[in-house]
Amino acid sequence: MVDLIKSPGDPIWLQYVPTVQELDVHDGLVDSLDEDANSPVPNITHRYPDRALFLVSPVCAAYCRFCTRRRKVGDPEKIPLALLESAFRYLEEHHEIRDVIMSGGDPLLLSDRRIDDICRRLRAIPHLEVLRIGSRVPCHLPERVTPELCAILKQYHPLYINTHFNHPDELTPAAVRALGMLADAGIPLGCQTVLLKGVNDDPEVMKLLMQRLLAARVRPYYIYMCDQVAGAEHFRTTVEKGLEIIKALRGWTSGLAVPHFVIDAPGGGGKIPLLPEYVVKLTDKEIILRNYAGKTYRYSQPLEPILVG
Ligand SMILES: *Cc1c(COP(=O)(O)O)cnc(C)c1O
Repeated sequence: MVDLIKSPGDPIWLQYVPTVQELDVHDGLVDSLDEDANSPVPNITHRYPDRALFLVSPVCAAYCRFCTRRRKVGDPEKIPLALLESAFRYLEEHHEIRDVIMSGGDPLLLSDRRIDDICRRLRAIPHLEVLRIGSRVPCHLPERVTPELCAILKQYHPLYINTHFNHPDELTPAAVRALGMLADAGIPLGCQTVLLKGVNDDPEVMKLLMQRLLAARVRPYYIYMCDQVAGAEHFRTTVEKGLEIIKALRGWTSGLAVPHFVIDAPGGGGKIPLLPEYVVKLTDKEIILRNYAGKTYRYSQPLEPILVG
C-alpha cells in the first residue's frame, strides 16, 4: 500500500499513517460495537438470528487508523486451534445458524494449512449452509492470493468473500489480479467500504470506486458510516454526506454498483440501512414517487378488493 502514497495527507496516507488527531479522544465515544455483549463464547459474536461472526485470526495486514482493532498491533500469535474449540462447539450446537462469517483480524493471513483446517471443520457442520470470509488481503497483500490458497478455498463452496476497498487507487493491477483469481475459483466477491473524510467523502470518488470494483468482478455490498471509534473523529462525515453519495449513485450508474448504506448502530444494534427519500407521499390510493433525476411519478394502489361470497 505504501507505494500508493503520492503525498502526505492523500487518501491512502490518511488511512494508514497515524496522526496526532488520534490522540484527541472525546467523552461519549464508544470504542467498540459491543461485540462482547453478543458473545456467548470467546471469538463468536451471535447478534442476528441465523448468522454468526467467528473471529479466527487476531492478525491484520494493516492497522487501518479508523478501525476498532487498530490498537491490537503486536497481538503476539495466532489463536491456537484448541482455543477455538468452544466456538466450533457453539456453532455445532446452534442449528439456527446457517451462515458463519470468518473475521478477525484477517482470516487470509493465517497459513494455508490453518485456513483449510478451519473451513473443513466448519463444512462438517451440516446446518452451516454458507461460509463467508471478511478480508482486506486482496487490497493490502494481493500476493497472498496464490493458486494454492484458491485451490483450498474452492473446496468449501458456497463460500463468499467480502473484501474492503475505500479508494479507486487501491484497485491496483495486483489487486485486480488477486480478485480475478478468487472469482475464477468460483467465489462471489463483495466489498464493504467505510465512508471516510478526505478519503472517499465525494460522490465522484465513490462512483469511480464502485465502478472499478464492479469491473474487477466485485459487487459493492455495504458503505458504512465510520464507527464512533475513539481517536477516529477526524475521519467522520455527516450522515447527509452518505445519503448524497447514494443519491449520486442510484440511477446514475449500474444498479450493481450501488451498495446498501448502513450505520452499524453502537450498542449492538447491528446494521441499519439508510435511503435517500424517494417517497413524496403514500396514501391508501396511491404513492407519489421521485425518481433519481428528481421527476415525480404516481403509482396507484390496488382497488378495494371485492368481497366474494
Ligand atoms: C455484519 C455482521 C453480520 C453479517 O451481516 P449481513 O448483513 O448478513 O452481512 C453478522 N454478525 C455481525 C455481528 C455483524 O456485524
